[in-house]
Amino acid sequence: MDQSLPAADIEALIQRDRVHAWHPYASMTSPPPAYPVVGARGVRLRLADGRELIDGMASWWAAIHGYNHPVLNAALTQQLERMAHVMFGGITHPAAAELCELLAGIVPGRLPHVFLSDSGSVAVEVGIKMALQYHLSQGRSARKRLLSLRGGYHGDTFMAMSVCDPVTGMHHLFSGALPEQLFAPRPQSRFEAGADDAALADDIAAFEAMLAAHAHELAAVILEPVVQGAGGMHFYSPAFLTAVRRLCDAHDVLLIADEIATGFGRTGKLFACEHAGIAPDILCLGKALTGGYMSLAATLASERVSRGICEGEAGVLMHGPTFMGNPLACSVALASIRLLLSQPWQRRITALEHGLREGLAPAAGLPGVREVRVLGGIGVVEMETPVEMARIQRLLVERGVWIRPFGRLVYTMPPFIMQPDDLGTLTRGIVDAVRTLGTGDGR
Ligand SMILES: *Cc1c(COP(=O)(O)O)cnc(C)c1O
Repeated sequence: MDQSLPAADIEALIQRDRVHAWHPYASMTSPPPAYPVVGARGVRLRLADGRELIDGMASWWAAIHGYNHPVLNAALTQQLERMAHVMFGGITHPAAAELCELLAGIVPGRLPHVFLSDSGSVAVEVGIKMALQYHLSQGRSARKRLLSLRGGYHGDTFMAMSVCDPVTGMHHLFSGALPEQLFAPRPQSRFEAGADDAALADDIAAFEAMLAAHAHELAAVILEPVVQGAGGMHFYSPAFLTAVRRLCDAHDVLLIADEIATGFGRTGKLFACEHAGIAPDILCLGKALTGGYMSLAATLASERVSRGICEGEAGVLMHGPTFMGNPLACSVALASIRLLLSQPWQRRITALEHGLREGLAPAAGLPGVREVRVLGGIGVVEMETPVEMARIQRLLVERGVWIRPFGRLVYTMPPFIMQPDDLGTLTRGIVDAVRTLGTGDGR
């Protein structure tokens, strides 16, 4: 791993960053602390002062194989020697064509047409544009709105923001600038809910009422299947998703599945839609698509959607990012997916799930903890009140682990390769930090 830096250099780095670098959801007038990382390998981040942290975030769901993986490194360097980039208008190249074919072959259902873009938010924008253009091309120009779920998160660009949770999202701040969408209640039925579950029946009835009342103006339903990520780390019943699919068909409304967080194995299935045995009309992928190496996203469409769009007035999908199909990103995505599929990834997720359940269980009884829940490679400790970020972050780093909580949620989704001893250190660190918070120590 990289050498550590002299103290003076670390100070200079932090200072430079504080003055000039705007971090996610951060203030520039009172910048939050940022830990300087100079290297990463396997499941460990190396801080500039030489300390190592066990990474429980996989860099926001993405680094599923860990850092600095020889197979992914080789894919990138080989592609770099051929070409770093070439435009995708009127040109194709092996990595993009192979990636599109591979994706179409592994996703649920038949979604043969793949549109590549640069980030998850853009994949969502493209998915929504596909749905709007599809209905326009069918002469149904009234179908312009989206129905989403409360507690959802779909990205930070404007159309994506408009379908995020209206309370925890940014609707109030940007009201007037955002299209007004429709929201069904957040599903309350638990992941394990049986078909006769009362909460499940309520969830479905509430969703159906919204859908039936507004179908005439709806282009699509957009949701995160089974796991709502950044909107609350909430898991719901796959049976709800099955009902949503049936109801969308009944009302001729398209279904967009946002699997940007859940795709590529995280929930224990390759795609979360598989828990419900359903396929969407449009599917958004990102985050773990390149194994956390580069920014790349994809929006997949069914034949019906793509034909509908291309038969319409425009004749084409009206979208085309400059860096579409970037060869480096496509190459590392291909290598990452092939690596995943060549491994016993389901067994690994099952082991992660057991380790997280066992390791986080002691948090359940602690003061200030509302609930502990685990699904696949996702572990969540939900607190009663929002955690003080800088303080818990410091407690966690002192315990040698990297976690970035938000709001009331202290959560982890480790790289799939994490071994039991490191997972033990990670979960002990989380439980310990939560306990210290609860007792009011460690100020
Ligand atoms: C992260 C995320 C996005 C946005 O992806 P970016 O790459 O950050 O633009 C959209 N939807 C879901 C479900 C996500 O988790």
